[in-house]
Amino acid sequence: MFQRKNKNKQLKQQLEQILFFKRGFVYKLPKNRNVVLTMTGGIDSSVGAQLIIEKWGSIVYPFYLKRGAAAERHELKSVKKVVSYLKKKYPKNVKDLFVASAPVPLSEIKPNLSRKRVIKRGHPLRNSIIQSYAVQYGVSLNDQAVKLDTVLVGSVASDYFPGSREVDLLLNTLYVCTNMEEWNWQILSPFLQKGLLKGKQKIKKIDLIKWGYKNNFPFELTRTCTSENAISCGKCSECKERLETFEKAGIKDPIKYKM
Ligand SMILES: [Zn+2]
Repeated sequence: MFQRKNKNKQLKQQLEQILFFKRGFVYKLPKNRNVVLTMTGGIDSSVGAQLIIEKWGSIVYPFYLKRGAAAERHELKSVKKVVSYLKKKYPKNVKDLFVASAPVPLSEIKPNLSRKRVIKRGHPLRNSIIQSYAVQYGVSLNDQAVKLDTVLVGSVASDYFPGSREVDLLLNTLYVCTNMEEWNWQILSPFLQKGLLKGKQKIKKIDLIKWGYKNNFPFELTRTCTSENAISCGKCSECKERLETFEKAGIKDPIKYKM
């Protein structure tokens, strides 16, 4: 385990070196700049949107991909509510929600993926595919005269699936830069950057819940459950993680559960 962790760290450093060699920086914090933010309706990207607006003054182009998830209808509803809440609060910093549709994984492939694999590691390449679409959206904005080269994703330090870690985001950054021959692009998680919250190296879900609570974030607008039911099941791993984290933070989760 230690060795694998160490090798991942080395890989991360090597990727950082390549980016630095090619463009003279690894990441640039998008302070007061336009960003595409991939949203899911969950805590991380919803509270995170408010956090980056408050701390970095970012101008957010929210992006949601209808990818064929069971909870899609409810997720999209939440994203719409969160975006309209943020728009009212920060009219200059929040642009219209952009919704695109593309099944991830492809609907012809999804039924043949093992349930065991999906539970353990998530859908193969799910995040990198969503991020690639978000970059494509960003490029289309460039072509409409909007200056932008950053895609923000809501990965937190407590995420465990491959595809959400720092090393994956660096690799995806490198992938889009080489493939487009545009070396200014970056895909990053604000929660894995130093200094977004004072005294925190990296931000976990519990930190976002505590910050959101302090800043009156309307958690009731968010949706975490992956089931197709309108009321959250309280039993899927995402619901469990949410409930446990609220409890650990000593804060009451205002959404209803079917329990
Ligand atoms: Zn659930």
